[in-house]
Amino acid sequence: AEGSGPYDIVVLGGGSGGYACALRAAELGKSVLLIEKDKIGGTCLHRGCIPTKTFLHAAEVADEAREAESVGVKARFEGIDMQGVRAFRDKIVNRAWKGVQGLLKGRGVTVVEGEGRLVGPKSVAVGGTVYEGRDIVLATGSEPKSLPGLDIDGERVITSEHALVLDRVPSSVIVLGGGVIGVEFASVWKSFGSEVTIVEALPHLLPLEEEASSKMLERAFRRRGIKYELGVRFESVKTNDTGVIVTLEGGKTLEAELLLVAVGRGAVTAGLGYEEVGIALERGAVAVDAHCRTNVPGVYAIGDVNPTLQLAHVGFAEGIMVAELIAGLNPAPIDYDGVPRITYSDPEVASVGITSAVARERGYEIVEMTYDLAGNPKSQILQTQGAVKVIAQKDGPVLGVHMVGRRIGELVTEGQLIYNWEALPSEVAQLIHAHPTQSEAVGEAMLALAGKPLHL
Ligand code: FAD
Repeated sequence: AEGSGPYDIVVLGGGSGGYACALRAAELGKSVLLIEKDKIGGTCLHRGCIPTKTFLHAAEVADEAREAESVGVKARFEGIDMQGVRAFRDKIVNRAWKGVQGLLKGRGVTVVEGEGRLVGPKSVAVGGTVYEGRDIVLATGSEPKSLPGLDIDGERVITSEHALVLDRVPSSVIVLGGGVIGVEFASVWKSFGSEVTIVEALPHLLPLEEEASSKMLERAFRRRGIKYELGVRFESVKTNDTGVIVTLEGGKTLEAELLLVAVGRGAVTAGLGYEEVGIALERGAVAVDAHCRTNVPGVYAIGDVNPTLQLAHVGFAEGIMVAELIAGLNPAPIDYDGVPRITYSDPEVASVGITSAVARERGYEIVEMTYDLAGNPKSQILQTQGAVKVIAQKDGPVLGVHMVGRRIGELVTEGQLIYNWEALPSEVAQLIHAHPTQSEAVGEAMLALAGKPLHL
């Protein structure tokens, strides 16, 4: 059957990228059809950002209960009630889910439930119905990757999707992959009471972060009793009735109740007709230019399905950019270096701009300054260790801000403004930071770079 239409825009996938694009396009007066096979909000809302952060908050509360005595509060950590944690997760997720659905309705976006498939460059079939769009936006997102030799059974060998619906706290877990997702789950489970070991093939946890941040996180994790094996790959994984046995290269074996596979996420493109209509892929993702255009005119790809940073706020931004482009506005391309990145473990690791390694690669002469949170009273009150490291061009603007510490992620916004406005350290040093806040650590680093250190 022929669907109604043509619509100005047909968006395939209702996750962060897709629904943001639909909302902005509708606001700009376009008729928009949004096709979603599962739940509006996608990975971020239902299986990613939001549910993991509810777990991380529960973990933080558990740790605060453990530390209560050290600040003179009579409270005790007695354990985790996963039913309760899950209820908290569902309350938050459902509220946001209703909110997004309400926004789409309010802006007049037509939402179709079902699995869509390109049957022409401007045609999407859902079941027997074909919908036509003057422009098409692919936003089908990503899914957990596996590796040869791993059999993800959802019981012993699991992904983040299974981890978020577990009904118990595992006694022990091996986390394969020390990227953002692996590190966040390791942090949660340790606080929930599990024995945790991370296995990472590269030499550091969070290998894309400034090396000093990774090392600081590793020290903090060691203090928390989170174990890790760095620079080593697994050789084999075997499961039995009680758990998993992971053999590492070199022969060392690790045993645990569960193995979490967190080795990255791959774009969802298979069987969706993308290649059949001539859309070029790049390492499995949909290849795009700086404005998220694919090689087929009038077809765009946003969010995790393209090769740019796999972050919800990048999906939002790309969705908005493409909606504006289609509406004939002239949106600037995204500067991906200027996108903030946060790992919400305890301690948090946050950054914006480039690392010192990348700065050197790009030929910058740089200066660096690290302010240790040991000198920051608010950090001491929060009982956190960590640091803020600023990288600047010699006699020039700030190139990167890198931080580690409890709740430090909220500070990345300042780093982002500094980086994106190409501020000089001396200019930021002029700004008075509120006392006592952790943001003073940023101010202190800038003061030191400007040649007038205060508490350093
Ligand atoms: P998705 O959110 O994956 O949405 C794609 C949608 O398309 C899905 O709803 C899917 O059902 C639908 N779909 C797919 N194929 C079809 C089809 N053929 N027809 C119809 N519908 C289809 N990012 C952050 O910024 N901060 C975080 O803290 C964070 N934490 C994360 C934690 C975890 C455990 C995970 C897994 C991810 C996390 N992310 C985080 C990443 C973030 O979730 C993604 O970057 C974001 O969801 C990408 O949005 P998207 O719209 O591209 O894709």
